[in-house]
Amino acid sequence: MTGSEEGSVSLEVLKTKMAEFAKERDWERFHSPRNLLLALVGEVGEVSEIFQWKGEVPKGLPEWEEKEKEHLGEELSDVLLYLVRLSDICGIDLAQAVLRKLELNAIKYPVHKWKNHSA
Ligand SMILES: [Mg+2]
Repeated sequence: MTGSEEGSVSLEVLKTKMAEFAKERDWERFHSPRNLLLALVGEVGEVSEIFQWKGEVPKGLPEWEEKEKEHLGEELSDVLLYLVRLSDICGIDLAQAVLRKLELNAIKYPVHKWKNHSA
């Protein structure tokens, strides 16, 4: 990946890259919705393992070693990649769905009702 792609990566690019990755390895036969969901949940578990037993940690993880943060980045990436792949295989346009969901959330939780109020 070139440096210029890093700041502007889109879900569409990730979708295409994941599809190519699977096709090149003949892994498409394994990428059923169920298998991808289980893989996604497994990767969420790997993220959880990193936080396990650490207690609450401050935002930005200032006391973590670079190596640990790099590992976290890898596992969060696995979660995103499986989410993108699962959406693709299910025929869901994730970019469109997530924008719609944000709109629905804004309607459900209007600013005037929540700002300066504790939940
Ligand atoms: Mg992983």
